[in-house]
Amino acid sequence: MKYKAIIGLEVHVELKTNSKMFCSCSADYFGQEPNTHTCPVCLGLPGALPVPNKKAIEWCVKIGMALNCDTPLFSKFDRKNYFYPDLAKGYQISQYDKPFCINGHMTLSNGKKIGIRRVHMEEDTGKLIHETVDGIKVTLIDFNRSGVPLVEIVTEPDFETAEEVKEYLQKLQQIVRYLGVSNADMEKGNMRLEPNISLRKEGQDGLPNYKVEVKNINSFSFVGKAIDYEIKRHEEILESGKTPTQETRGFVEKNSSTVSQRIKEEASDYRYFPEPDIPPIRWADREISKLKSQIPELPDEKLKRFIKDYAVTEYDASILTKAIEMADYFEEAVKIGKSNNLNAKQIANFIINRKQDINNILPAKLIENILEATKTEKVSETELEKIANEVLSKNPQAILDYKNGKENAIMFLIGQVMRQIGKKIDAEQIKAVLTAKLK
Ligand SMILES: [Zn+2]
Repeated sequence: MKYKAIIGLEVHVELKTNSKMFCSCSADYFGQEPNTHTCPVCLGLPGALPVPNKKAIEWCVKIGMALNCDTPLFSKFDRKNYFYPDLAKGYQISQYDKPFCINGHMTLSNGKKIGIRRVHMEEDTGKLIHETVDGIKVTLIDFNRSGVPLVEIVTEPDFETAEEVKEYLQKLQQIVRYLGVSNADMEKGNMRLEPNISLRKEGQDGLPNYKVEVKNINSFSFVGKAIDYEIKRHEEILESGKTPTQETRGFVEKNSSTVSQRIKEEASDYRYFPEPDIPPIRWADREISKLKSQIPELPDEKLKRFIKDYAVTEYDASILTKAIEMADYFEEAVKIGKSNNLNAKQIANFIINRKQDINNILPAKLIENILEATKTEKVSETELEKIANEVLSKNPQAILDYKNGKENAIMFLIGQVMRQIGKKIDAEQIKAVLTAKLK
């Protein structure tokens, strides 16, 4: 390809705190009666004062820490001014030049480090609902979501392909779930994705002089499609000797394309200034250390430890560590399995190959099930002898192969004996009888 894609990503993650970011209204808005989780603060009424949610701030910092960010001891909130019908105050409380976390990174499976520029805290907006009431087209506003804590995670423009972006997103989703700070449920809009894309001629240095942002995508696969579509579109424009317009576009699901929405605002258009109603935040070192000590073992470390401690394959370890609930379940089962002479590998195989529903089977019950499934039936020595003789007489070629050193031949003969017996008996027992006869 003559061009190299330069892709950055902004992700909004909705936190699952009980209350909203700046008031005590419930943040659990999904599926609730419209405008029932509201108060003067989140309705933006004059004179209402915001009080920051401590837990939300701590969770934001934890996300930053899990992404290897620095946490400056000084931080503050700012007003981002823009006029939009779902933004009751006419501004959003966000963070501009002093975000909670900066300078992190995430390492992808190809070894590439994606820089994390910043992780900051802000509030969600209300929701517009376009409907027809009494034959008239109207727009209704539901403020239940207004003021729900949002963490924005901004990467450096370090991605080159849609695949890298998708892997980053999957890992990010896994991390916030491990931290227990968000359900990161795409369908419920807990994670919203905004890639920005530009192309650079191969061999050229520096960033291109334009950037196209695609707004509010709610699925990993759509992000991939939007990126691929944009790369192709930019290529065509550049080939014709023009430069793509710097703008914000929207993703169109039905034909996996994007359409122009508006010419992108510059930071100065938002007239950021420090939020006068919230004092700046000054962390003490011990507060930062305390938060750091609360970060659990994260997916990458857990994966490595599972491979090392439990001798499972990397593939199996990735399935077992995908969700923390599964990882905890597996480790609990391994503990119980130990006293029943079951090793971790057997347990891993059973969970993965038999697709166990870990929400309905307790680890102890799982171990019982494995013991039951691996239990072998007894068969009398004389019956086994008789069948072994029959099998050997019918398979002279296998005997010859075995005598010529083909180890596989014995497995074939064991299989034949098992089939004829029609019971599940210990393969080692059959092997012993067969090898004795073949001597
Ligand atoms: Zn409220």
